[in-house]
Amino acid sequence: MSSFAERAHLELRDTQLRRNIRRATTTIRARTARVTGELPDWEALRDAGQAIKAAALHDLDTHLLTLEERVTAAGGTVHWARDAEEAREIIVGIARRNAARRVIKIKSMTTDEIDLNPAMQSAGIDPVETDLADMIVQLAHDTPSHILVPAIHRNRAEIRSLFEQEFGQGALSDAPTELTAAARRHLRERFLHTDVAVSGANFAIAETGSVCVVESEGNGRMCLTLPRVLISLMGIEKVLPRLQDLEVFLQLLPRASTGERMNPYTSLWTGTRAAAHGDGPQEFHLVLLDNGRTRIMADQAARETLHCIRCSRCLNVCPVYERTGGHAYDSMYQGPIGAILTPQLRGFDAAGSLPFASTLCGACYEVCPVKIDIPRILVHLRAGAVDARRAAHALDAEALAMQAVLWMFGGQARLRLAQRLGRLAQRLVARDGVVSRMPGPLSGWTDARDFPALPAESFRDWWKQRA
Ligand code: SF4
Repeated sequence: MSSFAERAHLELRDTQLRRNIRRATTTIRARTARVTGELPDWEALRDAGQAIKAAALHDLDTHLLTLEERVTAAGGTVHWARDAEEAREIIVGIARRNAARRVIKIKSMTTDEIDLNPAMQSAGIDPVETDLADMIVQLAHDTPSHILVPAIHRNRAEIRSLFEQEFGQGALSDAPTELTAAARRHLRERFLHTDVAVSGANFAIAETGSVCVVESEGNGRMCLTLPRVLISLMGIEKVLPRLQDLEVFLQLLPRASTGERMNPYTSLWTGTRAAAHGDGPQEFHLVLLDNGRTRIMADQAARETLHCIRCSRCLNVCPVYERTGGHAYDSMYQGPIGAILTPQLRGFDAAGSLPFASTLCGACYEVCPVKIDIPRILVHLRAGAVDARRAAHALDAEALAMQAVLWMFGGQARLRLAQRLGRLAQRLVARDGVVSRMPGPLSGWTDARDFPALPAESFRDWWKQRA
Protein backbone atom coordinates (compact mmCIF):
# COMPACT_ATOMS: atom_id res chain seq x y z
CA MET A 1 0.00 0.00 0.00
CA SER A 2 1.57 3.31 -1.05
CA SER A 3 1.77 6.38 1.18
CA PHE A 4 0.54 9.89 0.45
CA ALA A 5 4.15 11.03 -0.09
CA GLU A 6 4.78 8.31 -2.69
CA ARG A 7 1.57 9.06 -4.57
CA ALA A 8 2.17 12.80 -4.39
CA HIS A 9 5.63 12.27 -5.84
CA LEU A 10 4.07 10.74 -8.97
CA GLU A 11 1.30 13.34 -9.26
CA LEU A 12 3.78 16.21 -9.00
CA ARG A 13 5.33 15.12 -12.30
CA ASP A 14 2.11 15.97 -14.14
CA THR A 15 2.50 19.66 -14.94
CA GLN A 16 -0.78 19.83 -16.91
CA LEU A 17 -2.66 18.54 -13.86
CA ARG A 18 -1.02 21.14 -11.64
CA ARG A 19 -1.87 23.89 -14.11
CA ASN A 20 -5.53 22.77 -14.28
CA ILE A 21 -5.85 22.62 -10.51
CA ARG A 22 -4.07 25.91 -9.88
CA ARG A 23 -6.30 27.70 -12.37
CA ALA A 24 -9.51 26.20 -10.95
CA THR A 25 -8.68 26.69 -7.26
CA THR A 26 -7.47 30.27 -7.84
CA THR A 27 -10.79 31.14 -9.51
CA ILE A 28 -12.95 29.48 -6.84
CA ARG A 29 -10.84 31.00 -4.04
CA ALA A 30 -11.33 34.53 -5.35
CA ARG A 31 -15.06 34.02 -5.82
CA THR A 32 -15.68 32.54 -2.35
CA ALA A 33 -13.54 35.26 -0.70
CA ARG A 34 -15.61 37.93 -2.48
CA VAL A 35 -19.06 36.61 -1.55
CA THR A 36 -18.17 35.66 2.02
CA GLY A 37 -16.53 39.06 2.52
CA GLU A 38 -19.67 40.93 1.51
CA LEU A 39 -21.74 39.49 4.39
CA PRO A 40 -21.32 41.60 7.53
CA ASP A 41 -22.47 38.70 9.72
CA TRP A 42 -20.35 35.99 8.07
CA GLU A 43 -18.43 35.30 11.29
CA ALA A 44 -21.68 35.10 13.28
CA LEU A 45 -23.04 32.65 10.69
CA ARG A 46 -19.91 30.50 11.07
CA ASP A 47 -20.37 30.51 14.85
CA ALA A 48 -24.02 29.55 14.44
CA GLY A 49 -23.13 26.71 12.02
CA GLN A 50 -20.55 25.38 14.44
CA ALA A 51 -22.95 25.57 17.40
CA ILE A 52 -25.83 23.87 15.55
CA LYS A 53 -23.59 21.02 14.41
CA ALA A 54 -22.14 20.50 17.90
CA ALA A 55 -25.61 20.46 19.46
CA ALA A 56 -26.96 18.11 16.77
CA LEU A 57 -24.15 15.61 17.38
CA HIS A 58 -24.59 15.86 21.13
CA ASP A 59 -28.12 14.44 20.87
CA LEU A 60 -27.65 12.52 17.66
CA ASP A 61 -29.45 9.39 18.85
CA THR A 62 -32.61 11.33 19.67
CA HIS A 63 -32.57 13.25 16.37
CA LEU A 64 -32.07 10.09 14.33
CA LEU A 65 -34.99 8.33 16.01
CA THR A 66 -37.20 11.38 15.47
CA LEU A 67 -36.11 11.48 11.82
CA GLU A 68 -36.99 7.80 11.38
CA GLU A 69 -40.40 8.32 12.94
CA ARG A 70 -41.22 11.34 10.73
CA VAL A 71 -39.94 9.77 7.50
CA THR A 72 -41.98 6.65 8.19
CA ALA A 73 -45.07 8.70 8.98
CA ALA A 74 -44.66 10.46 5.62
CA GLY A 75 -44.65 7.15 3.73
CA GLY A 76 -40.88 6.51 3.52
CA THR A 77 -38.84 3.60 4.82
CA VAL A 78 -35.72 4.05 6.95
CA HIS A 79 -32.89 1.53 6.85
CA TRP A 80 -29.94 1.45 9.26
CA ALA A 81 -26.56 0.40 7.83
CA ARG A 82 -23.73 -0.38 10.23
CA ASP A 83 -21.09 -0.37 7.51
CA ALA A 84 -20.48 -0.10 3.77
CA GLU A 85 -21.36 -3.73 3.10
CA GLU A 86 -24.74 -3.47 4.78
CA ALA A 87 -25.49 -0.22 2.94
CA ARG A 88 -24.59 -1.80 -0.42
CA GLU A 89 -26.77 -4.82 0.28
CA ILE A 90 -29.75 -2.63 1.21
CA ILE A 91 -29.48 -0.39 -1.86
CA VAL A 92 -28.77 -3.14 -4.38
CA GLY A 93 -31.61 -5.18 -2.80
CA ILE A 94 -34.12 -2.36 -3.30
CA ALA A 95 -33.02 -1.84 -6.91
CA ARG A 96 -33.34 -5.58 -7.58
CA ARG A 97 -36.78 -5.80 -6.02
CA ASN A 98 -37.82 -3.08 -8.46
CA ALA A 99 -36.30 -5.03 -11.38
CA ALA A 100 -33.99 -2.10 -12.17
CA ARG A 101 -31.44 -2.59 -14.94
CA ARG A 102 -30.26 0.97 -14.56
CA VAL A 103 -30.30 3.64 -11.81
CA ILE A 104 -29.65 7.35 -12.17
CA LYS A 105 -27.48 8.95 -9.54
CA ILE A 106 -27.03 12.38 -8.04
CA LYS A 107 -23.55 13.37 -6.99
CA SER A 108 -22.87 11.66 -3.66
CA MET A 109 -19.54 11.08 -1.97
CA THR A 110 -21.22 8.75 0.50
CA THR A 111 -22.11 6.33 -2.32
CA ASP A 112 -18.44 6.48 -3.37
CA GLU A 113 -17.46 5.83 0.23
CA ILE A 114 -19.38 2.52 0.19
CA ASP A 115 -18.22 1.61 -3.37
CA LEU A 116 -21.80 1.46 -4.57
CA ASN A 117 -21.14 1.65 -8.32
CA PRO A 118 -19.01 -1.52 -8.54
CA ALA A 119 -21.58 -3.36 -6.37
CA MET A 120 -24.37 -2.23 -8.71
CA GLN A 121 -22.42 -3.31 -11.77
CA SER A 122 -21.74 -6.74 -10.26
CA ALA A 123 -25.49 -7.07 -9.74
CA GLY A 124 -26.10 -6.29 -13.43
CA ILE A 125 -27.38 -2.76 -12.74
CA ASP A 126 -25.94 0.20 -14.64
CA PRO A 127 -25.34 3.21 -12.35
CA VAL A 128 -25.49 6.42 -14.39
CA GLU A 129 -23.91 9.52 -12.85
CA THR A 130 -25.88 12.60 -13.83
CA ASP A 131 -23.78 15.36 -12.25
CA LEU A 132 -21.64 16.76 -15.08
CA ALA A 133 -18.29 16.38 -13.31
CA ASP A 134 -19.15 12.94 -11.95
CA MET A 135 -20.28 11.89 -15.41
CA ILE A 136 -16.91 12.99 -16.84
CA VAL A 137 -15.11 10.94 -14.19
CA GLN A 138 -17.31 7.91 -14.87
CA LEU A 139 -16.99 8.07 -18.67
CA ALA A 140 -13.21 8.42 -18.41
CA HIS A 141 -12.97 5.48 -15.93
CA ASP A 142 -11.24 7.96 -13.67
CA THR A 143 -11.52 8.70 -9.94
CA PRO A 144 -12.68 12.00 -8.38
CA SER A 145 -9.99 14.48 -7.37
CA HIS A 146 -12.05 17.16 -5.64
CA ILE A 147 -15.04 16.98 -3.29
CA LEU A 148 -17.11 19.49 -5.20
CA VAL A 149 -15.59 19.41 -8.68
CA PRO A 150 -14.55 15.77 -9.10
CA ALA A 151 -13.10 16.40 -12.58
CA ILE A 152 -11.14 19.52 -11.58
CA HIS A 153 -7.97 17.89 -12.92
CA ARG A 154 -9.36 17.86 -16.49
CA ASN A 155 -9.46 20.85 -18.78
CA ARG A 156 -12.05 21.67 -21.42
CA ALA A 157 -10.08 20.22 -24.32
CA GLU A 158 -9.84 16.86 -22.54
CA ILE A 159 -13.57 16.93 -21.77
CA ARG A 160 -14.46 17.79 -25.37
CA SER A 161 -12.54 14.83 -26.78
CA LEU A 162 -14.06 12.52 -24.14
CA PHE A 163 -17.60 13.65 -25.04
CA GLU A 164 -16.92 13.29 -28.78
CA GLN A 165 -15.72 9.77 -28.19
CA GLU A 166 -18.52 8.70 -25.81
CA PHE A 167 -21.65 10.50 -27.03
CA GLY A 168 -21.46 9.96 -30.78
CA GLN A 169 -22.89 13.43 -31.38
CA GLY A 170 -20.23 14.50 -33.85
CA ALA A 171 -17.58 17.19 -33.44
CA LEU A 172 -17.92 19.58 -30.49
CA SER A 173 -16.15 22.80 -29.53
CA ASP A 174 -14.54 23.68 -26.19
CA ALA A 175 -17.36 26.14 -25.39
CA PRO A 176 -18.91 25.27 -21.98
CA THR A 177 -22.46 25.85 -23.31
CA GLU A 178 -21.89 23.38 -26.16
CA LEU A 179 -20.35 20.78 -23.84
CA THR A 180 -23.19 21.04 -21.31
CA ALA A 181 -25.79 20.88 -24.11
CA ALA A 182 -24.19 17.66 -25.37
CA ALA A 183 -24.28 16.22 -21.84
CA ARG A 184 -27.91 17.25 -21.48
CA ARG A 185 -28.86 15.46 -24.72
CA HIS A 186 -27.01 12.37 -23.50
CA LEU A 187 -28.79 12.38 -20.12
CA ARG A 188 -32.32 13.35 -21.16
CA GLU A 189 -33.39 9.88 -22.27
CA ARG A 190 -31.95 8.37 -19.08
CA PHE A 191 -33.88 10.80 -16.87
CA LEU A 192 -37.13 10.01 -18.63
CA HIS A 193 -36.84 6.23 -18.76
CA THR A 194 -35.26 5.18 -15.47
CA ASP A 195 -37.38 3.97 -12.61
CA VAL A 196 -34.94 4.12 -9.72
CA ALA A 197 -32.73 6.99 -8.53
CA VAL A 198 -30.01 7.06 -5.90
CA SER A 199 -29.04 10.24 -4.10
CA GLY A 200 -26.94 11.38 -1.21
CA ALA A 201 -28.18 14.05 1.19
CA ASN A 202 -26.69 17.34 2.30
CA PHE A 203 -28.98 17.59 5.31
CA ALA A 204 -31.96 15.84 6.88
CA ILE A 205 -34.37 17.53 9.26
CA ALA A 206 -35.44 15.48 12.26
CA GLU A 207 -38.36 17.75 13.11
CA THR A 208 -40.12 17.30 9.75
CA GLY A 209 -38.58 14.11 8.35
CA SER A 210 -37.39 16.05 5.29
CA VAL A 211 -34.25 15.42 3.28
CA CYS A 212 -32.37 18.19 1.50
CA VAL A 213 -30.10 18.08 -1.55
CA VAL A 214 -28.37 21.18 -2.89
CA GLU A 215 -26.86 21.24 -6.37
CA SER A 216 -26.09 23.60 -9.23
CA GLU A 217 -27.14 21.85 -12.43
CA GLY A 218 -30.74 20.73 -12.00
CA ASN A 219 -29.84 17.10 -12.65
CA GLY A 220 -30.53 16.41 -8.99
CA ARG A 221 -34.01 17.86 -9.23
CA MET A 222 -34.71 15.55 -12.22
CA CYS A 223 -33.51 12.50 -10.28
CA LEU A 224 -35.54 13.43 -7.22
CA THR A 225 -38.80 14.08 -9.02
CA LEU A 226 -38.99 11.81 -12.11
CA PRO A 227 -38.23 8.22 -11.02
CA ARG A 228 -40.83 6.18 -9.19
CA VAL A 229 -38.36 4.94 -6.56
CA LEU A 230 -35.85 7.08 -4.71
CA ILE A 231 -33.09 5.73 -2.45
CA SER A 232 -31.14 8.31 -0.42
CA LEU A 233 -27.95 7.35 1.36
CA MET A 234 -26.94 9.62 4.21
CA GLY A 235 -24.18 9.62 6.82
CA ILE A 236 -25.80 9.77 10.25
CA GLU A 237 -24.03 13.05 11.04
CA LYS A 238 -26.04 14.94 8.41
CA VAL A 239 -29.17 15.26 10.55
CA LEU A 240 -30.20 18.70 11.84
CA PRO A 241 -32.75 19.06 14.63
CA ARG A 242 -35.02 21.78 13.18
CA LEU A 243 -36.08 23.12 9.80
CA GLN A 244 -35.00 26.56 10.98
CA ASP A 245 -31.37 25.32 11.22
CA LEU A 246 -31.28 25.11 7.43
CA GLU A 247 -31.41 28.90 7.27
CA VAL A 248 -27.82 29.04 8.50
CA PHE A 249 -26.45 26.27 6.31
CA LEU A 250 -28.18 27.41 3.13
CA GLN A 251 -26.27 30.68 3.54
CA LEU A 252 -22.95 29.10 4.54
CA LEU A 253 -22.78 26.31 1.98
CA PRO A 254 -23.16 28.08 -1.40
CA ARG A 255 -20.94 30.99 -0.42
CA ALA A 256 -18.18 28.71 0.90
CA SER A 257 -18.37 26.10 -1.86
CA THR A 258 -19.14 27.54 -5.30
CA GLY A 259 -18.96 31.21 -4.30
CA GLU A 260 -22.63 31.75 -5.08
CA ARG A 261 -24.93 33.87 -2.93
CA MET A 262 -27.69 31.31 -3.19
CA ASN A 263 -27.72 27.75 -4.31
CA PRO A 264 -29.27 27.34 -7.78
CA TYR A 265 -31.27 24.18 -6.92
CA THR A 266 -32.27 23.37 -3.34
CA SER A 267 -34.59 20.34 -3.15
CA LEU A 268 -36.41 19.38 0.02
CA TRP A 269 -38.79 16.44 0.16
CA THR A 270 -40.66 14.60 2.88
CA GLY A 271 -41.50 10.94 2.38
CA THR A 272 -43.41 9.94 -0.72
CA ARG A 273 -45.72 12.02 -2.86
CA ALA A 274 -49.23 12.08 -1.49
CA ALA A 275 -51.18 10.77 -4.48
CA ALA A 276 -50.87 9.97 -8.14
CA HIS A 277 -50.46 13.68 -8.75
CA GLY A 278 -47.49 15.89 -8.06
CA ASP A 279 -43.76 15.41 -8.21
CA GLY A 280 -41.58 13.09 -6.24
CA PRO A 281 -41.10 9.38 -5.63
CA GLN A 282 -43.90 6.94 -4.92
CA GLU A 283 -41.46 4.80 -2.96
CA PHE A 284 -38.78 6.42 -0.81
CA HIS A 285 -35.97 4.74 1.13
CA LEU A 286 -33.61 6.58 3.46
CA VAL A 287 -30.45 4.62 4.31
CA LEU A 288 -28.69 5.90 7.44
CA LEU A 289 -25.01 5.00 7.34
CA ASP A 290 -22.66 4.68 10.29
CA ASN A 291 -19.50 3.14 8.73
CA GLY A 292 -17.19 4.40 11.48
CA ARG A 293 -18.98 7.63 12.36
CA THR A 294 -19.97 6.57 15.89
CA ARG A 295 -16.32 5.63 16.45
CA ILE A 296 -15.29 9.14 15.38
CA MET A 297 -17.89 10.61 17.73
CA ALA A 298 -16.37 8.72 20.63
CA ASP A 299 -13.06 10.55 20.14
CA GLN A 300 -13.60 13.92 21.84
CA ALA A 301 -10.50 15.39 20.20
CA ALA A 302 -11.60 14.56 16.65
CA ARG A 303 -15.40 14.40 16.70
CA GLU A 304 -15.81 17.85 15.15
CA THR A 305 -14.64 16.22 11.91
CA LEU A 306 -18.31 15.23 11.64
CA HIS A 307 -19.39 18.89 11.50
CA CYS A 308 -18.17 19.05 7.89
CA ILE A 309 -20.74 20.19 5.32
CA ARG A 310 -18.49 19.17 2.37
CA CYS A 311 -18.18 22.67 0.96
CA SER A 312 -14.59 21.95 -0.22
CA ARG A 313 -13.31 25.39 0.73
CA CYS A 314 -10.45 23.88 2.71
CA LEU A 315 -9.23 22.12 -0.46
CA ASN A 316 -9.22 25.33 -2.45
CA VAL A 317 -6.93 27.13 0.00
CA CYS A 318 -4.61 24.23 0.82
CA PRO A 319 -1.06 24.65 -0.57
CA VAL A 320 -0.50 20.89 -0.47
CA TYR A 321 -3.72 20.07 -2.35
CA GLU A 322 -3.01 22.76 -4.95
CA ARG A 323 0.27 21.07 -5.83
CA THR A 324 -0.55 17.37 -5.53
CA GLY A 325 -4.19 17.37 -6.64
CA GLY A 326 -6.77 14.99 -5.22
CA HIS A 327 -5.62 11.61 -6.49
CA ALA A 328 -2.64 11.58 -4.12
CA TYR A 329 -5.12 11.25 -1.22
CA ASP A 330 -6.44 7.94 -2.66
CA SER A 331 -9.88 8.69 -1.22
CA MET A 332 -13.19 10.22 -2.23
CA TYR A 333 -12.45 12.80 0.47
CA GLN A 334 -9.40 14.82 -0.50
CA GLY A 335 -7.52 17.84 0.82
CA PRO A 336 -7.48 18.84 4.50
CA ILE A 337 -10.88 17.31 5.30
CA GLY A 338 -9.78 14.09 3.57
CA ALA A 339 -6.57 14.10 5.60
CA ILE A 340 -8.57 13.95 8.83
CA LEU A 341 -11.70 12.06 7.76
CA THR A 342 -10.24 9.20 5.71
CA PRO A 343 -7.87 7.85 8.40
CA GLN A 344 -10.71 7.92 10.91
CA LEU A 345 -13.04 6.04 8.56
CA ARG A 346 -10.51 3.54 7.22
CA GLY A 347 -8.01 3.29 10.06
CA PHE A 348 -4.31 4.14 10.27
CA ASP A 349 -3.25 0.92 8.55
CA ALA A 350 -4.94 2.01 5.35
CA ALA A 351 -4.55 5.79 5.56
CA GLY A 352 -2.03 6.57 8.30
CA SER A 353 0.07 8.80 6.01
CA LEU A 354 -2.75 11.28 5.33
CA PRO A 355 -2.52 13.32 8.57
CA PHE A 356 1.02 14.17 7.44
CA ALA A 357 -0.23 15.63 4.12
CA SER A 358 -0.25 19.14 5.52
CA THR A 359 2.07 22.01 6.34
CA LEU A 360 -0.19 22.92 9.31
CA CYS A 361 -0.36 26.45 7.91
CA GLY A 362 -3.91 26.82 9.26
CA ALA A 363 -5.49 28.19 6.04
CA CYS A 364 -8.18 25.47 6.17
CA TYR A 365 -9.23 26.43 9.70
CA GLU A 366 -9.40 30.12 8.79
CA VAL A 367 -11.89 29.56 5.97
CA CYS A 368 -13.96 26.58 7.14
CA PRO A 369 -17.61 27.75 7.33
CA VAL A 370 -18.23 25.61 10.43
CA LYS A 371 -14.86 26.40 12.03
CA ILE A 372 -13.46 22.87 12.18
CA ASP A 373 -9.99 23.11 13.75
CA ILE A 374 -8.37 20.87 11.14
CA PRO A 375 -4.72 21.60 12.12
CA ARG A 376 -5.39 20.56 15.73
CA ILE A 377 -7.07 17.34 14.59
CA LEU A 378 -4.20 16.64 12.19
CA VAL A 379 -1.70 16.84 15.05
CA HIS A 380 -3.92 14.61 17.19
CA LEU A 381 -4.15 12.04 14.36
CA ARG A 382 -0.41 12.19 13.70
CA ALA A 383 0.16 11.08 17.28
CA GLY A 384 -2.35 8.26 16.74
CA ALA A 385 -0.67 7.20 13.48
CA VAL A 386 2.77 7.09 15.13
CA ASP A 387 1.41 5.08 18.07
CA ALA A 388 -0.31 2.66 15.69
CA ARG A 389 2.88 2.20 13.69
CA ARG A 390 4.88 1.64 16.85
CA ALA A 391 2.41 -0.96 18.06
CA ALA A 392 2.49 -2.76 14.72
CA HIS A 393 6.28 -2.69 14.14
CA ALA A 394 7.98 -2.28 17.50
CA LEU A 395 11.41 -2.36 15.86
CA ASP A 396 11.06 -0.46 12.60
CA ALA A 397 13.95 1.64 11.27
CA GLU A 398 12.46 4.96 12.35
CA ALA A 399 11.83 3.74 15.89
CA LEU A 400 15.43 2.44 16.12
CA ALA A 401 16.78 5.74 14.80
CA MET A 402 14.75 7.65 17.38
CA GLN A 403 16.05 5.38 20.15
CA ALA A 404 19.62 6.11 18.99
CA VAL A 405 18.96 9.86 18.97
CA LEU A 406 17.47 9.63 22.45
CA TRP A 407 20.57 7.82 23.70
CA MET A 408 22.86 10.34 22.01
CA PHE A 409 21.14 13.39 23.50
CA GLY A 410 21.02 11.69 26.91
CA GLY A 411 24.66 12.47 27.85
CA GLN A 412 27.08 15.34 27.24
CA ALA A 413 30.01 13.11 26.32
CA ARG A 414 27.89 11.13 23.87
CA LEU A 415 26.65 14.27 22.20
CA ARG A 416 30.19 15.63 21.84
CA LEU A 417 31.34 12.36 20.33
CA ALA A 418 28.42 12.36 17.90
CA GLN A 419 29.16 15.95 16.88
CA ARG A 420 32.79 15.13 16.25
CA LEU A 421 31.89 12.07 14.17
CA GLY A 422 29.23 14.10 12.31
CA ARG A 423 31.75 16.81 11.40
CA LEU A 424 34.12 14.19 10.03
CA ALA A 425 31.38 12.41 8.06
CA GLN A 426 29.90 15.55 6.56
CA ARG A 427 33.18 16.37 4.81
CA LEU A 428 32.02 13.92 2.16
CA VAL A 429 28.61 15.54 1.59
CA ALA A 430 28.60 19.19 2.81
CA ARG A 431 29.14 22.05 0.33
CA ASP A 432 29.06 25.75 1.29
CA GLY A 433 27.55 25.10 4.68
CA VAL A 434 24.68 22.87 3.51
CA VAL A 435 24.15 19.20 2.91
CA SER A 436 21.99 18.85 -0.19
CA ARG A 437 22.18 15.10 -0.54
CA MET A 438 22.38 12.56 2.24
CA PRO A 439 23.35 8.97 1.48
CA GLY A 440 21.15 5.85 1.70
CA PRO A 441 17.92 5.94 3.70
CA LEU A 442 18.79 9.44 5.00
CA SER A 443 18.27 10.76 1.45
CA GLY A 444 14.51 10.98 2.22
CA TRP A 445 15.32 13.98 4.41
CA THR A 446 17.23 15.87 1.71
CA ASP A 447 14.92 14.97 -1.19
CA ALA A 448 12.87 18.09 -0.58
CA ARG A 449 15.13 20.30 1.58
CA ASP A 450 18.73 21.15 2.40
CA PHE A 451 20.23 20.18 5.71
CA PRO A 452 22.44 22.83 7.40
CA ALA A 453 25.95 21.45 7.91
CA LEU A 454 27.23 21.11 11.46
CA PRO A 455 29.27 24.23 12.37
CA ALA A 456 33.05 23.89 12.79
CA GLU A 457 32.69 24.34 16.57
CA SER A 458 29.82 23.79 18.94
CA PHE A 459 28.34 26.47 21.16
CA ARG A 460 29.99 24.87 24.21
CA ASP A 461 33.43 24.95 22.56
CA TRP A 462 32.91 28.54 21.51
CA TRP A 463 31.79 29.51 25.05
CA LYS A 464 34.77 27.77 26.64
CA GLN A 465 37.23 29.63 24.40
CA ARG A 466 35.46 32.93 25.00
CA ALA A 467 35.68 32.45 28.77
S1 SF4 B 1 -13.77 20.86 6.64
FE1 SF4 B 1 -14.83 22.84 6.57
S2 SF4 B 1 -13.95 23.84 4.75
FE2 SF4 B 1 -13.44 21.67 4.57
S3 SF4 B 1 -15.09 20.76 3.35
FE3 SF4 B 1 -15.67 20.53 5.52
S4 SF4 B 1 -16.92 22.30 5.97
FE4 SF4 B 1 -15.83 22.78 4.09
